[in-house]
Amino acid sequence: AGTLYVVATPIGNLDDISARALRILGEVALIAAEDTRHSLRLLQHFGIDTPLAACHEHNEREEGGRFLATLQAGSDVALISDAGTPLISDPGYHLVRQARRAGVRVVPVPGACALIAALSAAGLASDRFVFEGFLPARQAARLTRLEALREEARTMIFYEAPHRIVECLADLQAVFGGTRQAVLGRELTKTFETLKGLPLAELRQWVEADANQQRGECVVLVEGWQAPEGEDAVDAQALRVLDLLLDELP
Ligand code: SAM
Repeated sequence: AGTLYVVATPIGNLDDISARALRILGEVALIAAEDTRHSLRLLQHFGIDTPLAACHEHNEREEGGRFLATLQAGSDVALISDAGTPLISDPGYHLVRQARRAGVRVVPVPGACALIAALSAAGLASDRFVFEGFLPARQAARLTRLEALREEARTMIFYEAPHRIVECLADLQAVFGGTRQAVLGRELTKTFETLKGLPLAELRQWVEADANQQRGECVVLVEGWQAPEGEDAVDAQALRVLDLLLDELP
């Protein structure tokens, strides 16, 4: 059987594609792409003329069979998405799963990924982190999701659409408090790249005051919760015990 290569493409700056990615994209029989028109431009830029076929959210399950047949017939296939690493808030999960289940070799060809790029330059703790992907679009659901992260000690990473960035920062502030440190990574690797670190309340004001910061692609990182130390710790623990006891009262 052939090999399924999961190939990362740039998140903005085209120079970020790896030499290995270019070689493999040129060598495979078929490239499964999220948006074939979008990817055609990328391939043309690099002079690659491998045939493209659509593999997006809506056809992934059904079309998976077709890609699998190509692989099982002995041809190599590369999977790419519109930007960055496939499967990271992008299609590909079903195809990779089907391929592995069918015994097809799946090989990662790593490269750009917005969350890793942001984390690598944000200056927040990076030894442990959680990637939360996109928050729900509706505020009630978004707040519920954030509430569940109230005492998350690891650095939290979110993807957000530009038209929701202000609302998102407001909700992050409401749940985590205005003094919690956060970083906005916007348009990474592109001309107007921004990496701004401020306490949540100030970051929100800064974005609100500048329409330019409400455009483009963004990643938001929030420092993890830190257990209070010393006297505060005792107070916090006492309060929690009191809370529990109060719940028990008739
Ligand atoms: N697969 C991609 C990856 O590896 O990062 C993510 C795809 S997801 C559909 C698109 C989201 O990723 C954007 O809404 C934004 O949150 C984030 N993103 C992608 N490119 C970015 C960039 N250049 N700067 C900041 N965020 C970016």
